[in-house]
Amino acid sequence: MIAMPTIQTVQGPVEAEELGTTLIHEHVRFRDEAVAEQWPARYDREAELAAALDHVNAAAAHGVEAIVDPTAMFGGRDVEFMRRVAQESGVKIVACTGIYTYDYLPPYFANRSEDQMAEHFVEDIEKGVQGTDIRAGFLKCAADEPGVTPSIEKVHRAVARASVQTGAPIMAHSRPASNTGPRQLEIFAEEGVDTEKVQIAHTGDTGDLGYIEGILDSGAYIGLDRYGLDMFLSLEKRNTTTAELLRRGHAEKIFISQDFCATIDWFPPEAVEGLVQGGLVRDWSMTLVFEQVLPTLREEGAFTDEHFEQIFRRNPRRWLAG
Ligand SMILES: [Zn+2]
Repeated sequence: MIAMPTIQTVQGPVEAEELGTTLIHEHVRFRDEAVAEQWPARYDREAELAAALDHVNAAAAHGVEAIVDPTAMFGGRDVEFMRRVAQESGVKIVACTGIYTYDYLPPYFANRSEDQMAEHFVEDIEKGVQGTDIRAGFLKCAADEPGVTPSIEKVHRAVARASVQTGAPIMAHSRPASNTGPRQLEIFAEEGVDTEKVQIAHTGDTGDLGYIEGILDSGAYIGLDRYGLDMFLSLEKRNTTTAELLRRGHAEKIFISQDFCATIDWFPPEAVEGLVQGGLVRDWSMTLVFEQVLPTLREEGAFTDEHFEQIFRRNPRRWLAG
């Protein structure tokens, strides 16, 4: 008997074929774990849960069966919270391991090697996360405005080694405006990672097709995954890029998502209001792509049922299960 490829979800392993329609990049909660640990009364866990369920249920009403949630260390990863959202909504959630930092590393990791860091990730993938039997389904790292600093390179190499050791795929947060993608891919290649396992998230924050096709040429997946975050690129400009990439035949390497956070503690409420008023965040949700993006692209003739099958069903299971 041939073993079916499986994908680890917070509800347990599922056969890849069962994953279903998937949003590749959404957060059921995003908060600073240190602040939340030190000032717990500043956070309302029940309100967070209610918000997560509202948004995940809304996505489910559009046919979403699974959500890939790349909340890692420093984003308040909490797999028990994720499991509760998954169980109460009936939507599968795939959790990750890794470190979400743009440069800073705590002394704990600054004073340990790449291999020692990688051991932590491997444990999450092979044994379980945070003392549970929930296993991480992929690895996460990030490079942003500071670029690929020595600390960021270290995290990338550790993530790469954990991927080589376990076969787990990698999602790398990138910043096209700082040209991080090519260097991130270079590090993964140096470490022997199969580029087909790599997803360069936030590639859709630029409309520069030369840059984007440079990433695609490596064999990596790209995330057109921040619909609604007009502060980086407007929905209209994102659609122009998406339509052109589909026209050029790149559907097999594209992900479409929103990088939505059901709750996020980065800004006080009045600042969030300002972002919305200022048009920097527009109709951001877990359903924007179904309500505005896909209908527009379909009307233009740029998006077909076959594209949907490829981008929301085949690509997620192939990236996650190999
Ligand atoms: Zn994200």
